[in-house]
Amino acid sequence: MHTTGSAVNKAAERSSELYSRALAVSPGGVHSPVRAFGQTGGSPLFIRSAEGSTLTDVDGNTYTDFCMAFGPLILGHNDPAVAAAAHAALDDGWSYGTAEPWSTELAELTRAGIPWAEKIRFVNSGTEAVMSALRLARAVTGRNRILKFAGCYHGHTDAMLIEAGSGLAGTASSAGITPGVAVDTLVAPLNDVDELHTAFDLYGHELAAAIIEPMPANHGLLPQTGEFLGELASLCRQHGTQLIFDEVISGFRTGFGGCAERFTIEPDIVTWGKIIGGGFPVGAYAGRAELMQHIAPEGDVYQAGTLSANPVAMRAGLATLLQLQDGSVYNYLEQLGVQLERGIAGIDGINITRVDSVFWLWPGSSVSGEAPPRSPACFDNTVTERFPDFYSHLLEAGIYLPPSPWEACFIAAAHQPEDMEKLVAAIGSF
Ligand SMILES: *Cc1c(COP(=O)(O)O)cnc(C)c1O
Repeated sequence: MHTTGSAVNKAAERSSELYSRALAVSPGGVHSPVRAFGQTGGSPLFIRSAEGSTLTDVDGNTYTDFCMAFGPLILGHNDPAVAAAAHAALDDGWSYGTAEPWSTELAELTRAGIPWAEKIRFVNSGTEAVMSALRLARAVTGRNRILKFAGCYHGHTDAMLIEAGSGLAGTASSAGITPGVAVDTLVAPLNDVDELHTAFDLYGHELAAAIIEPMPANHGLLPQTGEFLGELASLCRQHGTQLIFDEVISGFRTGFGGCAERFTIEPDIVTWGKIIGGGFPVGAYAGRAELMQHIAPEGDVYQAGTLSANPVAMRAGLATLLQLQDGSVYNYLEQLGVQLERGIAGIDGINITRVDSVFWLWPGSSVSGEAPPRSPACFDNTVTERFPDFYSHLLEAGIYLPPSPWEACFIAAAHQPEDMEKLVAAIGSF
């Protein structure tokens, strides 16, 4: 192992020891699969604390963090205002199981910035938000089938753990999913208007919803065009299909109004997560009042949660979104993004795809020659094959990326221009 001369990578003894203990008591030693470092060729780092743009592991190594908890921390670690809000919430007792003021404040804040999303329901994760949005779409259309897109991730509800099979038919991508569930989820390719028309010609009348990440960021970063998203929206309208934008990553990230605002497309239902909870467990789904009135107790679509709209999470979410309202954070993040992109542009062998403060680093070249690549079909095995070397090189240079070749990286307001320089230098020396 070569050293960088800095204080990083002294040893990983304590992480190794904790990993052995964790393996004995949890599947794979982790509580979410990617954390096991399976695709990096290494083993997980156990983090002790985080501040600003820096992670510190249990062995005392420090890393400049570009994973940022997989997206929620747009302000960075331990942001003072978010920390103060969470501490204040703890002082007031942290769970009441009944109505409280902060979820209304947070709802008013999102509605002020995103007026078409008139009513919102808070849940505890992105998965839950998607699951509930699908139920609502099925209830109001009286239809069963859902269309999703290969390369998009929507959490781990059964109906969404479906990958492309032959034709549009989906097949389960996890054990434990019934054929009945798989049959109701169809899968189309991203960025392919012809296939989209075929899907709606064949199944449009049966589709309760089409769900898409308008900025797919879970299979690398696969920016979609306004034309493709617009075509999807108009086909949904023609066929009485609910359009669901899964903005769990892009919401409050590509500007306050997310991709809906960026592309001036109003979906029927939007799902949020990650940033809206400021790093605490929150998800949400929202839409027009006329649609949301179908949710219990106003309507007959049941959905509930013991810890939903938890005051600590609501107050942390508020403290986060309040800082995003005036747009200055987005301007700053864009400056850092441009700096990074320019730095990497001159480096051979590593590509960057960036949308605002989300970026993805990938080796090799697009199989289709498309720039930027817009579907999973653009990549060959080079991406996964080269990742372990790339990852360990960056880790040794004191850079923490998400431990998977297909996960996007995030810039936070706590990053400084020097952090970007450090990343560029580390990539340049690979
Ligand atoms: C992270 C993510 C989810 C799932 O959210 P969880 O909080 O992990 O359940 C759903 N959709 C998208 C687009 C995501 O990025």
